[in-house]
Amino acid sequence: MTRVPIIGGNWKMNLDLSGASQLASGVRNQLGSHRAADVVIFPPAPFLAPVFSKIRGSAVALGAQDVHQQEKGAFTGAMSASMVTSVGCTWTLVGHSERRSVFGDSDGVVADKLGAALKAGLNPILCIGETLQERQSGRMNDVLGRQLDVLSQHRSGALVIAYEPVWAIGTGVTATPKQAQDTHHWIRGRVASLCGSSFAKAVRIQYGGSVKPANAAEILACPDIDGALVGGASLDARSFFRIVMAGAVRVGSYR
Ligand code: PEP
Repeated sequence: MTRVPIIGGNWKMNLDLSGASQLASGVRNQLGSHRAADVVIFPPAPFLAPVFSKIRGSAVALGAQDVHQQEKGAFTGAMSASMVTSVGCTWTLVGHSERRSVFGDSDGVVADKLGAALKAGLNPILCIGETLQERQSGRMNDVLGRQLDVLSQHRSGALVIAYEPVWAIGTGVTATPKQAQDTHHWIRGRVASLCGSSFAKAVRIQYGGSVKPANAAEILACPDIDGALVGGASLDARSFFRIVMAGAVRVGSYR
C-alpha cells in the first residue's frame, strides 16, 4: 500500500504580511520540483490570498486553519469553506486541539465543519488527540475513538487524519516513536472498524506535536505514520524543508 507522505505547516496566529510572504517564497524555493511528499502550508486567514500568489503553480499547496460549518450568513469573524476555496485553498484543518480547547469546537461542530469542507471540495485534515490527563488516566482510546466517530458520518478518500497528542503540541515534548506508532496503529484499526479495512489501509495519518528536523526522521520512519503536522518548526523554511525531506525519504520504502 503506497501512502504518499504529507507534511503540513500550521503557522497558527503568527507573522505579518511581509513575513508570511517571505516564508511562503522560502518554502516554495526550498521545495523546488520535489514531489515525493505532499506539502501544505496553513497561513493565518488574512494572508491566504497573498501567500497563494507566491506558491501558485508550485509543489506547495494552500490550506486554511479552520472553516465555519455554514456556507454564509450572519457569522461575524468566520469564513466558509467555499470562501477559502475561492482564494486558492485546497486543504483545511478541522478540529485542531486549539480550536477544540480555546474556541470550544465540540465533536458535533467538528463533524459539521468536516461535512462543510468536503462539500466545498476541500481536503480536510481531521485533527484528534488526547490530553496528558486523559492518557494517564487510561481514557486515551475512548477520547480518540469518540473524536474518530465523525468518520461514520463523513468518510471520504480526500480526508487525512492528524494524531496530535495535546501534551506534545507546542511544548517541546514529543511522543516517542513507539508511543506514536502504537497510537497510529490503534487509530488505523479503529478506522477499519468504522470505515472498512481498505479505507483504513489507504488513509494517511500524520503525527503532530513538537516535530523538528532533529526528531522527524525517526518519527516518520514508523510504518503507520504517513507525515507530520508541524507548528513551530514550520515558521522557518529551512527547518520545514528538512522535515519534508525526512518524510520524502520513506516514500522509497513504500514503492
Ligand atoms: C500544531 O500546531 O499542530 C503543532 C503540532 O504544533 P507544534 O509543532 O509547535 O507542536
